[in-house]
Amino acid sequence: MVSSFWSWLIVGGAALALCLLIARLLFQREQLRRQVAALLRDTENLNDRLWTLADSEERYRSLIEAQGDLIVRRDGARIVYANRAYGALFGASEVDLVGSKMQLPQLASRPAQLLEGGARSFDECLATYEGERWISWVETAVAGHGGKALIQRVGRDISARIAGEDALVEARARAEAASEAKSRFLATVSHEFRTPLNGILGMADLLTDTGPDAEQATYIAALRTSGEALLALVDDILDFAKVEAGKLELVEEPFDVVQLVETVAELVAPRAQAKGIELSAHIAPELPTRLIGDRDRLRQILLNLVGNAVKFTEAGGVGLSLRLSGAGVEITVADTGPGIPVDRLEDIFSEFEQVEHGAGIRQSGAGLGLAIVRRLVDLMAGEVRAESRLGEGATFRVTLPLAAAADAPRPGIPHWPQQHILLVSPVPFAARFLAEAIRVTGAAVSVATTAESARVKLIGETRPTAVLIDHALGDMPAKDLAAAVAASGIRDCLILLSPLERRQFGAPQAAGFSGFLIKPVRTRSLYERLDADFPHRLPAMGEIANATASARNSPGTGLHVLVAEDNEINALLVVRTLERFGCVAFWARDGREALQRVEASFAGAAPPLALALLDVRMPVMTGLDCARAIRALERRLGRASALPLVAVTANVAEADREAAFAAGMDDCLAKPLERAALLRWLERLSLPPAGSLSA
Ligand code: ADP
Repeated sequence: MVSSFWSWLIVGGAALALCLLIARLLFQREQLRRQVAALLRDTENLNDRLWTLADSEERYRSLIEAQGDLIVRRDGARIVYANRAYGALFGASEVDLVGSKMQLPQLASRPAQLLEGGARSFDECLATYEGERWISWVETAVAGHGGKALIQRVGRDISARIAGEDALVEARARAEAASEAKSRFLATVSHEFRTPLNGILGMADLLTDTGPDAEQATYIAALRTSGEALLALVDDILDFAKVEAGKLELVEEPFDVVQLVETVAELVAPRAQAKGIELSAHIAPELPTRLIGDRDRLRQILLNLVGNAVKFTEAGGVGLSLRLSGAGVEITVADTGPGIPVDRLEDIFSEFEQVEHGAGIRQSGAGLGLAIVRRLVDLMAGEVRAESRLGEGATFRVTLPLAAAADAPRPGIPHWPQQHILLVSPVPFAARFLAEAIRVTGAAVSVATTAESARVKLIGETRPTAVLIDHALGDMPAKDLAAAVAASGIRDCLILLSPLERRQFGAPQAAGFSGFLIKPVRTRSLYERLDADFPHRLPAMGEIANATASARNSPGTGLHVLVAEDNEINALLVVRTLERFGCVAFWARDGREALQRVEASFAGAAPPLALALLDVRMPVMTGLDCARAIRALERRLGRASALPLVAVTANVAEADREAAFAAGMDDCLAKPLERAALLRWLERLSLPPAGSLSA
């Protein structure tokens, strides 16, 4: 019994232990099952994330490939990443590049530029699998695995753009070369035209001096007019070609403004007076008398504008005035001509543009004058514009940034607070300009445009102290008015005359005037004539020359002058002109002949020469070589005085002048030789040599 109890107890215990074991096993299995399920879920999640990542990488990759940029990352030289486009440069798959150190040969490059954030950009031309390619790169440093610094380059193929740029540069160079060739051709051709044309004009001059009968004189005058018109045209074309070819070098030199304006006015005034219109000029007193700039080009601008104004104006007048403006100097050329339609005001500055002005207005010229003006003004960094309304005259305004010369003296202005001047002039600009010049002296000014209104002013409350009467009022009305002025006890009564009128007018005193002024009136002359105390100045060089030229004396009497010139007609012209001035002229056809003549004269085998005019361009021996040879000869012979040598050339650019002086010339004159220039030399040679009085 006891044994069965123990048996039962053992069996029962074993069964319990078994049960417990089973229960534990079951519990563990459940736990395992749960863990497996969680693991499965994680794996699935991981798979999902992997798939999303792969998808996004693919998306980025296709994006990168689609936009065509080249991408490469290197660790030092070793490629750690490359995209397909970069691989294509090598003709390889991008996968094959990774791990390699492959580089493409560089054929050319442009300087690199630093960008923000430490990046840099540069362009290089590479020898790729597909041929030469220009790539524009942006290079940056990026962090790789484990924070390692990698170099990333993103590039774009710019071969098409570079090819376009190259083609553009080439096309521009070709166009510029063609335009320059055209301008050079024009310049050469017009230069070749000038020589014979000047021959024709010079011959016409000489013919006039031979005493032709009235009919012949008319023909000669026609010859001159046509010749001059043609010469003006050729000059325009030549100037235009020079500006176009960029051959024009501006000089920056101090020049006398008053002299410049007066020369322009005096050059154009005869044309105006011949048409019965008036040309008046005025320089505002505050303008410095000396400015810095290119005087000759400025003269060209003024001559073109004033010349046009006179050409197109049939009645009334033309006014040229200069004043200081904010931007520098303002030049105004106004006229009372037909005007210009508002819609043409801009395009008249383009070459060959002309306005149809209707019957009665002669259209001559090539339509280049204003184009030249615009280009010159542009070169001087200035501005030019036209203002006009059809039928109401035209005004051209030029503003130039010209500085005052350091040595510019203050313009002299008299002090006339007690004076009252009456101006009588029917001419549009003259009275206004003269009034301005008088007003700055502190004097009172009244202006009358008719003799009747002038008479009223004579007996007015404030009696004038001086009266200026413009002859444009009419000969009789002017003289009658002068009588009225004298009767009212006013002593100063001046008549304003054009040079032509001056010749016919006779003595002003006989007609009741106290004196005269030549139109266009120079402010300076006005001050001098009305003020005995005003400092008188020495006449300018130009004035002496003009005065002498008009005197037509023979300053060259007995002087022996050598003319070296290969062109027969030109030579004849200069020789005859010299002879008219009383010289004995010798002609040499080239430099060598000239040198022989000089040698003979130095040796005493021929009369001594006073002057040699040497054409620069001559066959056999040029003028410059001839001058050098003459100077060497003088040194060899130990001659005390040098023979004056004057270069004559069609090219009077600064470089040509310098070359002439370097060769030993004393002067350089432009072709065609102007009588005035020749006269100046003859006068200089006729003067007793310095020191001869004391010797
Ligand atoms: P051109 O005088 O040789 O014809 P420009 O270039 O000097 O050439 O002038 C172009 C055109 O502008 C002239 O043909 C003329 O029709 C017009 N023009 C120029 N100046 C004036 C002016 N002062 N009054 C009226 N028209 C003018």
